[in-house]
Amino acid sequence: MSEKRYFINPYQDFGPSDGVLDATGDELNGRVKEDLMKNFTKLLKSFEDEVNETINPNDSSVYTGSTGYALLYLHLALVFNDHKLLDKAIAYTEPLVDTSGKRRLTYITGDSGVHTINAYIHYLKANQNESNISLRKLKKLVVCFADNETQTDVCDELLYGRSGFLYSLLFVRKFIQTSHEIIEDQDIRAVVDAIIKSGQRTAKRDKVSDRCPLMYYWHQKQYIGAAHGLMGIMSLLLEAKSYLTDEELDKCVKPTIDYILSLRMPSGNYPSSLSNPYDRLVHWCHGSAGAVNLFALAYEVFKEERYLMAAKDCGEHVWEKGLLVKGYGLCHGTAGNGYAFLRLYQLTGEEKYVFRAVKFGQWCCAYGEHGCHKPDHPLSMFEGLAGTLYYLTDLLQPKNSRFPGYQIS
Ligand SMILES: [Zn+2]
Repeated sequence: MSEKRYFINPYQDFGPSDGVLDATGDELNGRVKEDLMKNFTKLLKSFEDEVNETINPNDSSVYTGSTGYALLYLHLALVFNDHKLLDKAIAYTEPLVDTSGKRRLTYITGDSGVHTINAYIHYLKANQNESNISLRKLKKLVVCFADNETQTDVCDELLYGRSGFLYSLLFVRKFIQTSHEIIEDQDIRAVVDAIIKSGQRTAKRDKVSDRCPLMYYWHQKQYIGAAHGLMGIMSLLLEAKSYLTDEELDKCVKPTIDYILSLRMPSGNYPSSLSNPYDRLVHWCHGSAGAVNLFALAYEVFKEERYLMAAKDCGEHVWEKGLLVKGYGLCHGTAGNGYAFLRLYQLTGEEKYVFRAVKFGQWCCAYGEHGCHKPDHPLSMFEGLAGTLYYLTDLLQPKNSRFPGYQIS
């Protein structure tokens, strides 16, 4: 395989005169911010010139559809403290809320994304009734993800499975203060329970429980990465740690994370699946970029130095090989990889990581000038420009940034 997947990183790494933060460490300094915002404004205009012509009424997802556009405007409303943008956001979700049950169900690819985002926008607009209506629709989906051995079509991974639904429940509980009246602890526990039981059953069946107590398949493969595999599922279980028993955390989740660590390849990357052990993909969806959040969470929860080292190690690999030929998106593009550095800044407080995140942002500002592949959905949140715009604005307040659909805390 000699196909070129990444560009040689042309940037000098962080040096003593390369400060990018203001005195508080909370925001970018004026010069860096001004330059990014100039480019952001230009890119936002090209997004807005085209977006309404690309709406596909059959695609409501955050990943490639209308809810992704809602999520972008919701994010911009919060970052720029401009509540008028909430009206733009809601215009994308409102037409979708009554067509539940006909699509996929997770946050990134289905109904729970629509209900979560619609509930949050209404909450911010102080429309409590409308917010509650969406929360109740979200609650109705819990039963679809609860443990049921006969329900073999339910998977556990982030994009299409239980952990992707768990994200929605955790998100509303964290950001919508009134949500606990509708989304109860037992709802979250039911989904956590199902994820753990499903992983234990599969590990037992495969006779791997002694080294990896939780194992999962998606399309007949044991995936490792954030989108379809163990990294994404373990990250969401750690995000939900207060709903797990100590025994589940210590005897199931922790050894499974250690198993993932054991799969590290000499370059510092991780394989996309057990049956595809090649060192090729450095994406959020597959490989080291998506691993950073998992190891960061593991360090925050278990306080063991080796998880911090593993997270930093992934950061080095992403800095070297993370400017992607696939483009500038979140799922398998340079913006998504930039989140690895923002997460490392949150973990370590080292300015070097914001510098690197900014460099990846500056690379994205030259959108379309590197001869990258054009994604199938060029404006979308996870493949295209909406995700890049989301990342550029997340750079402004690095401590508050979160990879959408993946990071809660
Ligand atoms: Zn991807």
